[in-house]
Amino acid sequence: AQLMGWPQGSVHADFDSVLDFVHVDDRADFLYAIGRATNLGTPDRHVFRLRSSGRWLITAFDRDPAHDSAVHFIGMLRDHSAQRAVELEVEMHQNHLETLVKDLRKSNRVDVLTGLANRMALNETLRTATTNAHARNEWVSLLIIDVDFFKSFNDTFGHVEGDVALRQVANEIARSTRGNDLAARFGGEEFCVLCFAGSELTAKVAERIRNAVEQSSWAKRSVTVSIGVCCLQGANVDERVLFQQADAALYLAKDTGRNRVVVA
Ligand code: GH3
Ligand code: MG
Ligand code: MG
Repeated sequence: AQLMGWPQGSVHADFDSVLDFVHVDDRADFLYAIGRATNLGTPDRHVFRLRSSGRWLITAFDRDPAHDSAVHFIGMLRDHSAQRAVELEVEMHQNHLETLVKDLRKSNRVDVLTGLANRMALNETLRTATTNAHARNEWVSLLIIDVDFFKSFNDTFGHVEGDVALRQVANEIARSTRGNDLAARFGGEEFCVLCFAGSELTAKVAERIRNAVEQSSWAKRSVTVSIGVCCLQGANVDERVLFQQADAALYLAKDTGRNRVVVA
């Protein structure tokens, strides 16, 4: 009676008045628990709220073993509010923690200077792409993009202006890629783009990037990039080969005058 908030000594034995004290949202479950205990003879533990006080109670119903019929059952009520409050607090902290972990995972994959994907994200995506390419005979193409004469840009205008220029290059790269393509900063003044297309389309993407950087409106002095491209398909897709061949193509682009695309 004390738990249910009834006057001292008065026990409402009829079922309807007991049910009336249960929170409306919990009534269906409450009835279900009693139903299982009475009909199936399966003891059931059940947590519910009181309508009036909102306190959490715990019940355990079981059929009275002294009676064979399903008419009698015995039950137990225990105040569960304190434990419930702790449970809710734990739940809240868990949710908070999950959000933090998610944010951390995300920030771990983003390059701080440019906002592009970072090297870790690139490696992860490349690993998945390689597996997919092997399974489905898909194309994976890698572009390595290196800013031309960037040391002299830094030497002339300083590192702060250099960083501004790097952000502008990153923007042009991001604007020139689309769909599933992944644009990443590999490190320093080197960027990578993963394209899931064959050599013809990928060469067009590379040329679009090269042109976008060249045509961008530069405040200090014009900036250009050289791009090495390697395209592999299906079983041939291999991370090391992609980097080696794209790198070799990039060196060729540098050697043959810069501001150009070379496909391996
Ligand atoms: P190349 O055309 O052969 O690529 O010439 P380069 O001067 O660009 O090549 P090099 O590798 O000699 O120089 C790269 C320069 O990029 C060195 C450094 O001054 C600059 N750099 C690398 N990382 C950063 C960065 O995060 N911020 C800035 N501002 N500059 C960077
Ligand atoms: Mg470089
Ligand atoms: Mg360079």
